[in-house]
Amino acid sequence: MQGAPPGSPDNPLRVAVIGSGPSGFYAVEHLQAQADLTVQVDLYDRLPTPFGLVRGGVAPDHQKIKSVTRIYDKIASNPAFRFFGNVEVGRDIVREELAAYYHGIIYAVGARADRRMWIPNEHLPGSHSATEFVGWYNAHPDYRRLRFNLQGESAAVVGNGNVAMDVARILASPRGELAKTDISDDALAALSESTIRTIHILGRRGPAQAAFTNKEIREFGELPGVDVVVDPADLELDEASKAWIAREGDKTLERNLAILHDYAERPSTGAPTQVVLHFSVSPVELLGTDRVTGMVLAHNELYAADDGSVRPRATERRTTIAVDLVFRAIGYKGEPIAGLPFDERAGVIPNRAGKIIDPATDEAVLGEYVCGWIKRGPQGVIGTNKPCAQEAVEGLLEDVREGRITHSVPPREVLERVLAERQRDLVSYADWQVLDALEKERGEADGRPRVKFTRIEDMLAALEERRNTTV
Ligand code: NAP
Repeated sequence: MQGAPPGSPDNPLRVAVIGSGPSGFYAVEHLQAQADLTVQVDLYDRLPTPFGLVRGGVAPDHQKIKSVTRIYDKIASNPAFRFFGNVEVGRDIVREELAAYYHGIIYAVGARADRRMWIPNEHLPGSHSATEFVGWYNAHPDYRRLRFNLQGESAAVVGNGNVAMDVARILASPRGELAKTDISDDALAALSESTIRTIHILGRRGPAQAAFTNKEIREFGELPGVDVVVDPADLELDEASKAWIAREGDKTLERNLAILHDYAERPSTGAPTQVVLHFSVSPVELLGTDRVTGMVLAHNELYAADDGSVRPRATERRTTIAVDLVFRAIGYKGEPIAGLPFDERAGVIPNRAGKIIDPATDEAVLGEYVCGWIKRGPQGVIGTNKPCAQEAVEGLLEDVREGRITHSVPPREVLERVLAERQRDLVSYADWQVLDALEKERGEADGRPRVKFTRIEDMLAALEERRNTTV
């Protein structure tokens, strides 16, 4: 016999959200907004710190964007909310257990892996994914040990998205600019000593297809000590691109082109650092024996594909450029979760409007949902995650309201005891707020927004010390 659907005060709807980046928080927010239901949400993160890419991805010189965390703090202040930081699903607790403790699980785990270029010598020392560099300069514990050779002359950033812009801008920024930010201390020290003077940004298609947005391309022109170099010939658009622009009528694209024209017309000021934008080129080989010394670029022509998109096609023309460092910023990729279906090609968990779908049966995996980049792929800005997460929550609520989810779950305290037995260093939201305050204090003397902890051990030790002093 089926029981009553959960959601009443004596049988609250219990939901686990896995991953505390923007999509995870927006899922929590939408669950909390259900006036007719009693909902208890637990938010998990494998790190002791919340906020996903807001903390570990958004560039350190984009502090305004990071202020979105105030909204997340408000969501976390709901008395029925619990944060289980430093808990890795799959290690400290497995999916099957979560399914028994909760009525629903929402995966908001993002897209942690990076895409490859699949070219010879791609993995020579000196060639890195943007993911690594971004994680390193943002003090993400997973990347803190990495070292980048910033003692060369030039670097290449492959890709024309906003991640490529972030990487190139951080490489080009003078120390004075970086020192005002919450960039990791290691990165600040290494970048202060950087001798990289030329940063090539490589787009495989033309300026009309660039994925970067206006603010990001404009920022290069505002950096002290930097000249932006654009070849006017690259801005002469081919027929396919002209048709594309006319059809798209996209204001961002039009403004991008205007900014690029402005750069092309600017005379060189002889600034110490040059950011050189190249279009319609693809790396086809990295050169070097024990480290990267150069890169062979194929020049592409653009053509209109049958689906209306403008695609690149390599011509015979090749150019070799000398580079000491390569970053591929060609997109992130999700990783599979044990026991759940996975679309390897797209790097997402197959779903219909956030309900996980088993491709073998085309049926929904009842009680499990996805939102954010693991649902729709690595695209969109922070705000894009709000409707995306709401859709996933609506899928769960539909299953609840239509009586498909009725199993009973143990009281909340049971799980807390189980987790405490497995993970001695559980981090609550109150603990995170202690870390947050400490990081801000550490930055105060130098006028920085914060100085982040980079080692999990240091975070836990700081919490331990605080507990001992307040006992
Ligand atoms: P993205 O916007 O999808 O850009 C990826 C870039 O890589 C595109 O230019 C793409 O070119 C290129 N690319 C893909 N495969 C390639 C290959 N094999 N060879 C050469 N180039 C290749 O992705 P992203 O930059 O990783 O950013 C992810 C999302 O986060 C985006 O929505 C972005 O706007 C957002 N984000 C926003 C900010 C911000 O608001 N400041 C900062 C960072 C990230 P094609 O277009 O030709 O495929």
